[in-house]
Parts: sequence; C-alpha cells; structure tokens
Amino acid sequence: FDHRIHNFNAGPAAIPLPVLKKAQEEFLNFKGTGMSVMEMSHRSKEFEAVLARALDGVKNVMGVPDDYSIILVQGGASLQFSMVPMNLALPGKKIDLIQTGAWTQKAEKEAKKHAEVNIAATTESENFMRLPRPEEIKLTADAAYVHMCSNNTIFGTEYHWLPDTKGVPLVADMSSNICSRELDVSKYGLIFAGAQKNLGPSGVTLVIVRKDLAERADKKLPSMLQYRTYIAENSLYNTPPTFGIYMLALTMEHIQETGGLKATEARNVAKANTLYEAIDGSKGFYRCPVNKADRSRMNVNYRIYKGDTANEDLEKQFVKEAEAAGLAGLKGHRSVGGLRASIYNAVGQDSINALVAFMNDFARKNG
Ligand code: PMP
Repeated sequence: FDHRIHNFNAGPAAIPLPVLKKAQEEFLNFKGTGMSVMEMSHRSKEFEAVLARALDGVKNVMGVPDDYSIILVQGGASLQFSMVPMNLALPGKKIDLIQTGAWTQKAEKEAKKHAEVNIAATTESENFMRLPRPEEIKLTADAAYVHMCSNNTIFGTEYHWLPDTKGVPLVADMSSNICSRELDVSKYGLIFAGAQKNLGPSGVTLVIVRKDLAERADKKLPSMLQYRTYIAENSLYNTPPTFGIYMLALTMEHIQETGGLKATEARNVAKANTLYEAIDGSKGFYRCPVNKADRSRMNVNYRIYKGDTANEDLEKQFVKEAEAAGLAGLKGHRSVGGLRASIYNAVGQDSINALVAFMNDFARKNG
C-alpha cells in the first residue's frame, strides 16, 4: 500500500492522521531545538512543556476536577491490575469486581493477591455476550473499591450506564473507550487506560486518581508502584516514555480542535450505528451476538452465517479479501472467533462506509 489503509486494529490502533502529520513535521527538529522529542532530556524545559500540554490536555478534554491527579505510568493497563489493589485495598475489606470478560478476569487474578475479591456479578455463563443488569450486581456495603471495565475490547460490550456504588470508589478500566464519549470523572475513584487505542502509541498508561485514594497505600510499597510517587514528582520520578507523552499531547489537542468529547461521541455514535445497521439489516448473513443494549461503540463483533451456523471458512475468506481491498485488522479475537471491527476515535466515517460497502458486496457474492 502506498496510501493509508482503513485500519480496524484492536490496539495498537489507528492514530488520527493530523496527529501523525504534526509529529512527522516536528520529528527531526522539534520547535527549533535541532532534535527530536525522543532525543531530549526529560528534565529539559522543552519536554516539561510537552508534559504540561499532555496533562492539561487530559484535564481539559475530560473535565478532570481539581481533587484528582492525572499521572502517566508505564507497564500498560496490565500493571494497573496490580497497582490498583496494591494502592487501594484496605485491611479486612473486600474488593468488589464486576466480571465482564478477559480483562476483568486478569484484574481479578491480581486483586486476589492483595484482598478477598467478591464477584459482584458475572455473565461468564453467557460467554460475556451481555453486561450484568443493575439489579444483578450485588455489591458489598463497605468494599475497598469496585472494579469494572467500561468497554470490553474482546467481547464487544460497553456500559452505557454506571453502577451505583453508594459511595464506594469506582475503579474503571477505560483502556478501550477512554475519550470516546462524554463522562463525569467525579463519579469515579480511579480511571486507567493504556494509550494504544484512543490516546496514542503504546507505552504510556493514563491514570486519573482521586487524591485522597492515592494516600491509602503503604509507604513501604516499591516507590515505582505507589501512585503518590507519580503525583509528588509530576510523573517525572524516573525517565517517562517521552515520545508517547508527546503523542498524547498531540492527540488531546486534536480532540479539542475537533469539538471535544461531545462531538467525538456524536461521531462515534453515528459510526457504530452505520455498522450495526449493516449487520442487523443483512438478513442473517452477518450476526452480532452481543445483547443490543450493551453493544460497544468501539469494538463491533460479528459472525458470518451459512444457514443456521456460523461459518469459519467464510469468515477466513472475508478477512483475506477485506485485507486485499484495503481493510485491515478485522479478524476476531482468538477467544471469540468471527470478526471484529475496532472503530476507535481515529477511524473515520469514511472507513466505516468502506467496510459496509465491502460487507454488502461480500454478502451478495457469498450469501
Ligand atoms: N484492559 C483492556 C480493556 C484492554 O483492552 C487491554 C488491552 N487490549 C488491557 C486492559 C491490557 O492493556 P495493556 O496491554 O496495555 O497491558
């Protein structure tokens, strides 16, 4: 390909073209310094300004209140599965966890090393093809915190409501839908997200934590694993992933320039509607197994049917032909099978339209 492909990768994933172009423009000589952002000291005033742009950008885009700290950590969202319980567990108190897929199962595995975990609800028996309903969630009154995953990347479910935790801090893994919709940060105790879907390249993890919660941690924990270290040192305790932070800054500025989260959400709703309507309107050739009310706007899972059964050969053929037609990353996660289109912020309506046109054509030829 000598042009850019329609990119439906689950993560790392598409990055907005204006962000890539800006980075390219500044790559060899950042603001007259004669070097790339990658080549400068993380203690330089130029990099400190980049870091401030990233943190202010997150604060402004997400509307983060003043009693929260915004920090940047390495180790991916997966390290947060450990850091959250290490820092937020309380002696003798349970951690409540809403089990909605592989990523909450990984969080459970790590949380169990620090406290008793109460599975407040699970939809595992239905292969995670829906989220628990509010009345199915049995929370512990005095839990240390409640863990949820706001968008389940693999299973294609997304919360369009928030559990009422009655004052218990809510911790949300927002790795795959952060900055895709408006939100009220004050409803959460802690939010974390790996950058590689909606925030930029992998290597940076965004953590937004209510300041009082960061003070729960035992000071004997390794310094690098305490939120308070990152807060006290403005995420510069050690050398941070400087280029990723620069890309985060550019991505936040791009969101602001394109109408903020409100406009971003409206675009994402329209994109998801176009794709789900194409699936639901295909007379059963394509089928989305996910409960309608819980369908993700970011990760659209579907299968191809021949008669009454999903047909893996047709799915393989679809992925191959799609790739050849300039539509990349449509193979479903190995644990679910079928197809998955990840349509994060940087995937435009034009890519959705190209995918739908390809799908309609494929259905005509193979239905
Ligand atoms: N949580 C969710 C919801 C994810 O989608 C992912 C990655 N796909 C992770 C956690 C793990 O992220 P990382 O690879 O950054 O550790």
